[in-house]
Amino acid sequence: MIDFQDRVALITGAGRGLGAHHARLLASRGAAVVVNDPGVATDGTASEQRPADEVVAEIKAAGGAAVADYGSVSDPAQAEAMVERAVSEFGRIDIVVNNAGILRDKAFHNLEWDNMNAVIDVHLRGAFHVTRPAFRKMREQSYGRIVMTSSNSGLLGNFGQANYGAAKLGQVGFMNVLKLEGAKYNIKVNAIAPVARTRMTEEILGPVADKLEPGLVSPVVAYLCSEACAVTGEIFSVAGGTVSRMFIGVTPGWFKHPDKEGALTPEDVEANLAKIRDETGYIVPASNQEELQKIAPLLFS
Ligand code: NAD
Repeated sequence: MIDFQDRVALITGAGRGLGAHHARLLASRGAAVVVNDPGVATDGTASEQRPADEVVAEIKAAGGAAVADYGSVSDPAQAEAMVERAVSEFGRIDIVVNNAGILRDKAFHNLEWDNMNAVIDVHLRGAFHVTRPAFRKMREQSYGRIVMTSSNSGLLGNFGQANYGAAKLGQVGFMNVLKLEGAKYNIKVNAIAPVARTRMTEEILGPVADKLEPGLVSPVVAYLCSEACAVTGEIFSVAGGTVSRMFIGVTPGWFKHPDKEGALTPEDVEANLAKIRDETGYIVPASNQEELQKIAPLLFS
């Protein structure tokens, strides 16, 4: 049985949607939870305390421990205060779920800097502002679990979401580095790419929305936040009860030895494109060093 006894979690954007489900599940299994949410509209404007308060009230009514926090992840001081709140209220911080999110969809040729910046502010800079102070404490205590909320819009692409896609894939880059820097401190950092019916998606999912219960995403988050979590630096696609691993792979490719066969030319690339792109025998390197180790023997051959 996976439980979170004596564990403290900070979940950003936990007043609604996916974050509220994560908070309720972790709290029901013993975690003390900081329910962060400034209660903004989907585009990040306006603000109200009610969503965070309601989730905290629900958790408490069910016998759990939770405290509300109304800060914005985009504000460095408020983000740091969320982490401090976990420590001052519950004594430590073991878990961060970077879940806060907004949307400002526009076709790229119409995308203004403001709408680019606002989305990066919440998803990417916000993840930095929250995760760094927590990561420092996790290093000191040699334990931590961090979950990034990425998106298929960045991993695979979605029309009209250049800002969102860039920010969401930025969280994956973040994860890839933190998994290495956190490894010796038992800090595990993973990402989900969820699909679920929330106010963010209800108008775009169509009839399949009925099948995409947001609560079906939270068990994966709970596993990744648990002591039992056996992976780090991995991405999981989660939708309506389906769970899959997504990854960045490298094909065996094609090699032209510069000393023996001459320098690579654009025409070589054209002629060998099929071999370069052939996915047979691909690998999934765990770091850039691991990829280099694969290439080095060829270069010295
Ligand atoms: P949602 O709108 O219901 O929840 C997002 C929450 O984040 C809101 O309660 C909002 O108030 C909060 N928030 C916004 N800006 C914030 C800020 N600056 N600081 C703190 N909190 C802030 O949407 P959701 O679908 O539950 O989204 C949760 C996360 O999952 C988001 O990061 C979203 O991008 C991601 N996501 C969702 C889906 C999906 O299918 N629903 C797919 C891919 C990714």
